Amino acid sequence: IISKKEKGEAVRRANALERNDIASLRIASRREYLKKREQQKLEELKDEIADEEYLFGSEKLTDIENNEFRYKKELYDLVIKRTHEDANADEYIMPDAYDHDGGVDQEKRFSVAVHSKKGMDATQKMNPFAEQEAWEDHQIGKATLNFGAKNKEATDNYQFVFEDQIDFIKASVLAGENYEDEMLPVTGQSFSGKSSFEMLQDVRKTLPIYSYRDQLLKAIEDHQVLVIVGDTGSGKTTQIPQYLHEAGYTKHGKVGCTQPRRIAAMSVAARVAHEMGVKLGHDVGYSVRFEDCTSEKTVLKYMTDGMLLRELLGEPDLASYSVIIVDEAHERTLSTDILFGLVKDMARLRPDLKLLISSATMDAEKFSNYFDAAPIFIFPGRRFPVDVSFVAAPEADYLDAAIVTVLQIHVNEPLGDILVFLPGQEEIENVEETLKNKIRGFGTKIRELIICPIYANLPSEIQAKVFEPTPEGARKVVLATNIAETSLTIDGIKYVVDPGFCKIKSYNPRNGMESLLVTPISKASAMQRSGRAGRTSPGKCFRLYTAYNFENDMEDNTVPEIQRTNLASVVLALKSLGIDDLLNFDFMDPPPAEALVKALELLFALGALNKLGKLTKVGRKMAEFPLDPMLSKMIVASEKYMCSDEIISIAAMLSVGSYIFYRPKDKQVHADNARLNFHTGNVGDHIALLKVYNSWKETDYSTQWCYENYIQVRSMKRARDIRDQLEGLLERVEIKVSTNFHNLDLVRKSIVAGFFLHTAKLQKDGSYRTAKHPLTVHIYPSSGLSQVVPRWVVYHELVLTSKEYMRQVTELTPNWLVEIAPHYYQLKD
Ligand code: ADP
Ligand code: MG
Repeated sequence: IISKKEKGEAVRRANALERNDIASLRIASRREYLKKREQQKLEELKDEIADEEYLFGSEKLTDIENNEFRYKKELYDLVIKRTHEDANADEYIMPDAYDHDGGVDQEKRFSVAVHSKKGMDATQKMNPFAEQEAWEDHQIGKATLNFGAKNKEATDNYQFVFEDQIDFIKASVLAGENYEDEMLPVTGQSFSGKSSFEMLQDVRKTLPIYSYRDQLLKAIEDHQVLVIVGDTGSGKTTQIPQYLHEAGYTKHGKVGCTQPRRIAAMSVAARVAHEMGVKLGHDVGYSVRFEDCTSEKTVLKYMTDGMLLRELLGEPDLASYSVIIVDEAHERTLSTDILFGLVKDMARLRPDLKLLISSATMDAEKFSNYFDAAPIFIFPGRRFPVDVSFVAAPEADYLDAAIVTVLQIHVNEPLGDILVFLPGQEEIENVEETLKNKIRGFGTKIRELIICPIYANLPSEIQAKVFEPTPEGARKVVLATNIAETSLTIDGIKYVVDPGFCKIKSYNPRNGMESLLVTPISKASAMQRSGRAGRTSPGKCFRLYTAYNFENDMEDNTVPEIQRTNLASVVLALKSLGIDDLLNFDFMDPPPAEALVKALELLFALGALNKLGKLTKVGRKMAEFPLDPMLSKMIVASEKYMCSDEIISIAAMLSVGSYIFYRPKDKQVHADNARLNFHTGNVGDHIALLKVYNSWKETDYSTQWCYENYIQVRSMKRARDIRDQLEGLLERVEIKVSTNFHNLDLVRKSIVAGFFLHTAKLQKDGSYRTAKHPLTVHIYPSSGLSQVVPRWVVYHELVLTSKEYMRQVTELTPNWLVEIAPHYYQLKD
């Protein structure tokens, strides 16, 4: 049996071989031409070396220039040597030479038709064989290089020859209004002589939105509700709240601006505080789940859409706000969609409240129609043309393809930063590690490549790194989740690598199963992604899928979250806002009725709603916790079992996700042993998490202890933060903090009280079957119980990878089900 990955590899290699064969047929006829071209290149290189030789080693050249020179000379010597020694020398293609842009001459083995110089595009378009030729060029280059690599010495020197190369076919140029001659001052460097604060003010004025400042303020003054549309990076998020502040809107209330992602809220708030020259958390602040960085003084408040929803629970008329901006409306997250309905209502109630709906996409009609024909304010962005290319043949492993593409760009393309879109943290960490290893392998032969990951769980110090200007002569590669699609703008990006996937939550209302799936993106997303390459100069986008895939397999738009998610927590929030008639709630796109009913059923089963669908006392307590209703129920139930102290630790650890244990590739055995220590006695994964937390606490939250036990310090710190807040919330709902570490069954019973819908029973074949909706599932391999296989288990979540897995599993006594959820489970015989 070979794995899916191996099979993919094999297919890919076979394809490559096939392509190489065709290419070699054409080599003969092209040999003459290549020989001449190489001769010419060699002459040029010789001249360049002669020109620069007297400078070499002197201080007139920077380190990078000196390295470049050394490299050129090595190349030259190598080629000359081989021309003399090798009988087949005329078949060699000289390795890359640097071009004037500081990059490397692309023509030889990179088949992406590169025509950065003006005028070439037209020729390219007129020649119907251009694509074919570019491809052939590439093939020939590749075949020849492979041949050359047989020579041992050559292998050592030809470090740039990758094992695999990816063929791209240029498809189109995204329209752009600006061209090379209008380069923008984006960093402070061009404003020398001014203070950094003054420079920032100047930078603000270069943003596209700046020219529309007064018109925009006038429109806001004239209309209560306004839909605003402008390209990503044009300054909507950072500037509009500042304009409102400058215009006096903050004199009688806050300006609140919602973001779909916590990391966007945090980083944008930091940026705006910086632009205004104030301390973050004072005049400008942010509020995200489990973290409130605001004060009495805060007038500009960035927050996640989910947090505004929660604020509504405490302040139903949003009296402390004078303006609400629902930003990134095009993302259509669940919370944004719900907010639409609530703020629309609010605007009618409070004529003094200004409501701005801001979006990066053009389909604003829908927003306008929904908000009673609100006017739309559209302002043009600044876009440079972007060359878009697709892979010539499908890639079996998109992560591998992304890595190869980044290296191809790094070696072959002029300087400029690269943005790679990856589905999630795990993929980003993988790619980061592999890239680092490869770069180490290249040594000093290539320029510096700075790798900057960015995803939600990353601590903010590291997040800030992506915004730091790239040092001269180096290149930055940003590995980002969807967050960089529209929420965050990173300056200096010239190349986008788009594997075409994102992680998306999907929910099956029939069996109540929710899973995070790596899914193909929509065409609209693909367009947004490629647009990121052309913000400050013309750019290129490399799509790791074929043009055929794009045309035929991708949806036009991403389905709004409300139509593909578990609605339980939202229904609970709406119920506690007093909104009972959910079927008639004013949704922009209503969720499937089935999903609504399912959510009501779940809340009823958990005891949050009574038979009439009204919120119960338990439900009211549950609604206070910004958690999934099952987790909230687990916490509320811990009062009865006298173990709330343990349960909030577990809830906090579960909320951090699966990134507690650290498993470096070279120390997997050590790491696994360390992890198994916490599982002694087959206590189950929940209790193991509790043990991790408590042990860490006993060492007074020691970082050293984390290192020794292969545990991620950052995740632990986050768990501690979350736990502190849960403790505060316990007080608010008047649950006493009580501890019961010696009777772990009580802790387990609390877990079951929240998760009795997530139970599974062992089958004869060693798999498990979920209790209510028969589904075959397995214990996640890294679970402490994966070798123990208890008869009954309760699990935290299902994840779908190669199989359907239960993650975070604890053993269960079936009697407990009857005791804890008699309305759900009865004894059979
Ligand atoms: P929009 O909301 O229209 O997409 P933004 O207001 O987010 O645009 O961004 C405007 C500019 O502010 C961008 O050019 C970006 O480079 C800059 N910017 C935004 N956030 C940050 C940050 N955290 N650090 C540095 N620059 C930032
Ligand atoms: Mg924005």
